[in-house]
Amino acid sequence: MNKNESDNVVIIGGGPAGSALGCYLSKAGIKNTIFESANHPRDHVGESMVMSSVRVFDELDFLPVMEREGFVRKYGASWHPPIEKGEADIAFNEFPQADIHQDYTYHVDRKKFDLLLLKHAESLGTKVYQGMQVTEILFDENKYTRGVRVKIAGQEMDVPAKMVVDASGRATVLGKQLKVKKNDPIFDQFAVHAWFENVDKSQVESSEYIHIYFLPVQRGWAWQIPITHEITSMGIVAEKEVFKGAKMKPEEYFEKYVASNPDLAHAMRNAKRVNEFKMEGDYSYQMDTFAGNGFVMIGDAARFVDPIFSSGVSVALFSAKYSSERIVHAFATGDFSEANLKPYEKKLRSGTAIWYEFIRLYYKLLPLFTHFIKSKEHRVEILRLLQGEVFDRSEVPVLDAMRKFIKVVETTPGHAFAGQLSDMSID
Ligand SMILES: Cc1cc2nc3c(=O)[nH]c(=O)nc-3n(C[C@H](O)[C@H](O)[C@H](O)COP(=O)(O)OP(=O)(O)OC[C@H]3O[C@@H](n4cnc5c(N)ncnc54)[C@H](O)[C@@H]3O)c2cc1C
Repeated sequence: MNKNESDNVVIIGGGPAGSALGCYLSKAGIKNTIFESANHPRDHVGESMVMSSVRVFDELDFLPVMEREGFVRKYGASWHPPIEKGEADIAFNEFPQADIHQDYTYHVDRKKFDLLLLKHAESLGTKVYQGMQVTEILFDENKYTRGVRVKIAGQEMDVPAKMVVDASGRATVLGKQLKVKKNDPIFDQFAVHAWFENVDKSQVESSEYIHIYFLPVQRGWAWQIPITHEITSMGIVAEKEVFKGAKMKPEEYFEKYVASNPDLAHAMRNAKRVNEFKMEGDYSYQMDTFAGNGFVMIGDAARFVDPIFSSGVSVALFSAKYSSERIVHAFATGDFSEANLKPYEKKLRSGTAIWYEFIRLYYKLLPLFTHFIKSKEHRVEILRLLQGEVFDRSEVPVLDAMRKFIKVVETTPGHAFAGQLSDMSID
């Protein structure tokens, strides 16, 4: 490592956001270095993708790698109600997207996927150092970033940089240092998940879809994601209070909620767990700022919206794409100021705001979602959102229609859906 490389962009973290940014910058001829604290391959939650991710893979010449590695193809998604059996599903080919020449995206083993994308960045010119943790982002007397402090094998050293990008995921290294992290006022979800063999898929519409099972508890749901044709990732999600209140071991808690949904119980009746249960909490938040003098934050390091619609990796990839455009502009103009980098933040915020609103309305009235995807009028627009079409949109009429419908349910005495309204406010 050349310590004099102050024309370099330092990227903190080699997850999907950091690696995709490395690819974009290397393709644009901008020197960049990723410091990754773990040693890949490492486990990670977030295994099912939305369609829009394919567009980024294509731009980065990474699509042939996804195909070569044989990741499970994801052709659609399906939702199962809480009490009775049955499912409502959508297939991605109902809404072909511009610039995407296939009707499927992917489910991935994140150990494998993240390593491949990091290696891809390296092959394009990104310098990658693993097992090196960034402990501090360094600022000069004008409050511009000047580099990072990294730790390796107990030793610390300072590395200069022209720009610093925080892609450290939920570690949110820079957000914590600047004290700009705000937890979400509504969502405080908690997930327990593991991989299983022998999940029974004989009764579902497609074994290659993601299956979401509604659970009979406030904001509760379960995921079923095929990692390979033999192994399936299963996760139970509910409010953290539900988990805490249950006072159960993760395994007992998991089993209790598997039994609470008939379709899920059927799928899991002969399933055998193949790895340890993992738990995830405190994962909905945003930073007050995503861009400042000489820095940007991307992916989960900037913003995390609840994962019900599998949006995280797509947001990570698009934040890499959009931030790279501003970074290229900053190098071209020599202007690394907050003002010059802010358009990135505006773009990312408007896209994630659409995801957030969609998720909020979804949780407010779960049957409304199923009702809308079954309706001729709204189905395609819902599908468009589910595919990750949230950027560069000035209006999303289907969200207005959802809000209006909820108002009708709230104000009509005895409405059939009234008992299923969640207590959160959407005003
Ligand atoms: C319960 C749950 C379910 C989810 N399901 C889905 C899903 O189905 N689909 C989906 O798309 N998304 C899902 N997500 C979200 C998804 O996991 C993330 O949005 C995605 O991984 C974000 O990528 P990233 O690159 O920003 O961060 P990460 O993937 O977390 O990568 C950050 C990297 O930074 C490294 N790092 C951290 N600190 C430092 C440091 N100090 N120095 C150097 N390196 C550091 C880490 O080791 C890590 O490799 C889910 C999330 C949760 C919590």
